Amino acid sequence: MQIKRLRITGFKSFVEPADLVIESGLTGVVGPNGCGKSNLLEALRWTMGEASAKSLRGAGMDDVIFAGTATRPARDFAEVSILAEIAGPDGADEREIVRRIERGAGSAYRIDGRDVRAKDVGLLFADAATGAHSPALVSQGRIGAVIAAKPADRRAMLEDAAGIAGLHVRRKDAEARLRATEANLARLDAVIADQD
Ligand code: ATP
Repeated sequence: MQIKRLRITGFKSFVEPADLVIESGLTGVVGPNGCGKSNLLEALRWTMGEASAKSLRGAGMDDVIFAGTATRPARDFAEVSILAEIAGPDGADEREIVRRIERGAGSAYRIDGRDVRAKDVGLLFADAATGAHSPALVSQGRIGAVIAAKPADRRAMLEDAAGIAGLHVRRKDAEARLRATEANLARLDAVIADQD
């Protein structure tokens, strides 16, 4: 997957709509302390489905919405869109993934303009070997955390990198469907036995 553009509106310090075009190759973001470099990475992780406000340096998820300054009022919503090129069996496909949060009303996702569940966004990124917790997104303090990680956590990172993390979610879904079918079969057997 290649992320081609990040469009940020009302997210943390990005009060006005801002487009970050990412060319292929290496992209560096430089700027003085507090200018919003980490906020950019957090906007990316948030749109990929980050569910922990704490890991976005907030107390609640509404804290990602522009909170206002001495000269500008707070906003009521934040929206971030990722334009990504995803390689598939029939060539590369461009997809737009959007997450939007309204103050006090929670957040919602869209893929190519269609309302989807957080899980669908998680699977889309997991299948492309990335996601909100991908080791490819290296924030401050992350290197130390990787070194200190327990083997099970390192395995999760490797599974993310191999693009197989989505299989765990699908296996759980398949197991739940299998259990429901087995329960239905058992009920059916009981009904048939009653009729004999
Ligand atoms: P450093 O180099 O020190 O790590 P940085 O460039 O990564 O800094 P960030 O941490 O991304 O900077 O941005 C911090 C700025 O974002 C602070 O000025 C903070 O006030 C602002 N900020 C964070 N959340 C919000 C919010 N909800 N509303 C408005 N501004 C916010």
